[in-house]
Amino acid sequence: MRQDATPARSSLDAFSAAKLDELTGRGLRRRLLATHRHAGAGASRDGQGMISFSCNDYLGLSQDPKVCAAAIRAVETYGAGAGASRLVTGNHPLYAELETRLARLKGTEAACVFGSGYLANTGIIPALVGEGDLVVLDALGHACMFAGARLSRAEIRTFRHNDAGDCRRVIRAHRRPGRHCLVLTEGVFSMDGDLAPLPELARAAEETDAWLMTDDAHGLGVLGGGRGSTAHWGEAGRVPLQMGTLSKAVGAYGGYLCASLPVIELIENRARSLIYSTALPPPVVAAAVAALDIIAGEPDRVAAPVRNARFFTRLAGLPEAASPIVPLIVGPPERALSASQALAEEGFLVVAIRPPTVPEGTSRLRFTFSAAHREEDIRGLVGALGELGLVPPS
Ligand SMILES: *Cc1c(COP(=O)(O)O)cnc(C)c1O
Repeated sequence: MRQDATPARSSLDAFSAAKLDELTGRGLRRRLLATHRHAGAGASRDGQGMISFSCNDYLGLSQDPKVCAAAIRAVETYGAGAGASRLVTGNHPLYAELETRLARLKGTEAACVFGSGYLANTGIIPALVGEGDLVVLDALGHACMFAGARLSRAEIRTFRHNDAGDCRRVIRAHRRPGRHCLVLTEGVFSMDGDLAPLPELARAAEETDAWLMTDDAHGLGVLGGGRGSTAHWGEAGRVPLQMGTLSKAVGAYGGYLCASLPVIELIENRARSLIYSTALPPPVVAAAVAALDIIAGEPDRVAAPVRNARFFTRLAGLPEAASPIVPLIVGPPERALSASQALAEEGFLVVAIRPPTVPEGTSRLRFTFSAAHREEDIRGLVGALGELGLVPPS
């Protein structure tokens, strides 16, 4: 949002304008575009209707009548905002319901809900490790895991993407005697759609007495019968820290950690992003409760996003999708932008992903598939990609 622009006057404005010019010159300038989302996978920008392949609302739950009705009931019962942090007076009764459902779905003793996935990671990591400890992250981990790791003041090292052997080597090389080590990975990688090898990573963590935490932002609701990537691998018991978000397949907002009771009680006492930030609005929590009931009760809907992604990869001649996320790497940022614009003209909303979200030279189109996509939507998309020469013509 902006007011009418005034010419840059102060050194602050000059600094900002020069930074923006530099981004524009490198094809990395980003802009906020007003986007309407409609029922199903529909979206529109500037009055143009499109089918969106860029939403994380994998099950269409953000628009589901039962989910919306639950939010409306909660706003009428509890009001629009929580009024305080959870540790003050913001812990409205819906929280206990949500945390009970999350723990049940993930098969853990307890759960703790945060304001968002980003806030969860920046709160959990510094509550568990500190100066002198070691955080070992997958090199392609999400920005908020790195943010949490930096806030902890622990030493930070990365391991090669999805390489459990390298993870073990990094732990052994850098962990100080008697100090703790936290290993962080994503269950489903948000920009690549591949899955972390959780059995191998769990073994590496067990062998070194490191603590494994998964960020399952893109696994909950779509993998493992809806229970996420740890359930997909049959390894729920071996991942002691299962973090995720309520903002994607769950269709609402918020983050969570599922873990043992002592860990959750420690987090409630120590995570600064929980203690010093206002609780989620009641309608958001009620929506998440209703959405989790749907996830637990509708296995066919839960299976649909991966099924649709696989239909796409088969038609487009791409490697079989492992999750609802499929990347198509084009290289330079300008190419990703122009491909995205060309697809928009054909009625397909596919956002270009550029550095620093992904490494230099790997700008891409990133497709996400939802239960709301119809076969004809996916056929149309593959046809448009074929005409642009981005996949072999079908
Ligand atoms: C989206 C995402 C987050 C952030 O979750 P929010 O609830 O949107 O703040 C964290 N980690 C990963 C891997 C994500 O994709």
